[in-house]
Amino acid sequence: MTIGEFAHWLEARAPLRLQESYDNSGLLVGRRDSPLTGVLCCLDADEAVVQEAVSRGCNLVLSHHPVIFKGLKQITGATAVERTVELAISSGVALYAGHTNWDSIQGGVSFSLAKRLGIRDAKIMMPRTGELLSWVLYVPSSHAEAVERAAYSAGAGRSGAYDECHFASPGTGTFRPLQGSNPYAGQLGVQSRSAELRLEFLVPKAAKEAVQKAVLLVHPYEVVAHSWIALENQWDEAGYGAVGNLQKPMELNDFLQVCAQNLGSDCIRYSRSDSSRILSRVAVCGGSGAEFISAAAASGADAYVTGDAKYHAFQDMPKDLVLIDVGHGESERPFIDDWAEAIRLEFTTFAVHISTTENHPVSTYKRHG
Ligand SMILES: [Zn+2]
Repeated sequence: MTIGEFAHWLEARAPLRLQESYDNSGLLVGRRDSPLTGVLCCLDADEAVVQEAVSRGCNLVLSHHPVIFKGLKQITGATAVERTVELAISSGVALYAGHTNWDSIQGGVSFSLAKRLGIRDAKIMMPRTGELLSWVLYVPSSHAEAVERAAYSAGAGRSGAYDECHFASPGTGTFRPLQGSNPYAGQLGVQSRSAELRLEFLVPKAAKEAVQKAVLLVHPYEVVAHSWIALENQWDEAGYGAVGNLQKPMELNDFLQVCAQNLGSDCIRYSRSDSSRILSRVAVCGGSGAEFISAAAASGADAYVTGDAKYHAFQDMPKDLVLIDVGHGESERPFIDDWAEAIRLEFTTFAVHISTTENHPVSTYKRHG
């Protein structure tokens, strides 16, 4: 398998188009046509991690944060980023990052965090809008089923816990084949009328090209009448954060212990609340999610777990919602474990490791006496 083929597998699960405009996810260093020898997973790629990859025989470092983020104008070894890139190139180690696209997918960073905290039936906290299309096309009824199958297999027709959804209405299509045409039916220069079905499918933007390609392969017409229509509808399969219910309601104090224990957090800060207050619904957002507090409140959560919250965020919390800051890296690390496991389960031809040299950039000091 090549690095490019592996990147393709990653991007089928976490499409790059879901990343924010400021982001830089994807293959940052390395060649797509290089054979993949092994994957080393981490939050942040640095020189030590690249060296670890070399010593483990891995030629791909898969990180959550993109090491090249703001752009590089020179590689002179002057900064840690430049040295990491330089070492990666000279060692033949590719660098791939999945950042805000991994934050935005169902089963992504926030879902691993939710699972680690015992949150069940998690759903996306802030479903995206502007990600869905309606595809309308016309097909002779003889070929409707083949078109349906092709569309479904390429990702059309899914809505919530349903698939194979579409709408069909019968009608009459007209066309007149002109010089240069090669019509499936009808005669040159004569207007034809044919019984057709108007089919409508819901298609995520990410699947648009694949759906169109698959359908045009089985559609009999030389020129297919169709239209893509952008929808404002919410898409429940992408967006930041996750929200769900705890296995059983518990006191805030006990939940804080779960956070500390299950995430390995040395320092948890939370907004002033009665520690015996009962939590049953919890929202989470891996990384820096304090800007989404109002979405967490709107989701009906009793607590919101994230990282990097500022003083005034704690101060301004809505009365019914406890803000729990477990640390940026701590909130993202469960996904690295889950992702590595998913890759291991899928591929047996190369090794997958989780970095053991990566150091937490933040230390905490405990006052003595
Ligand atoms: Zn992060």
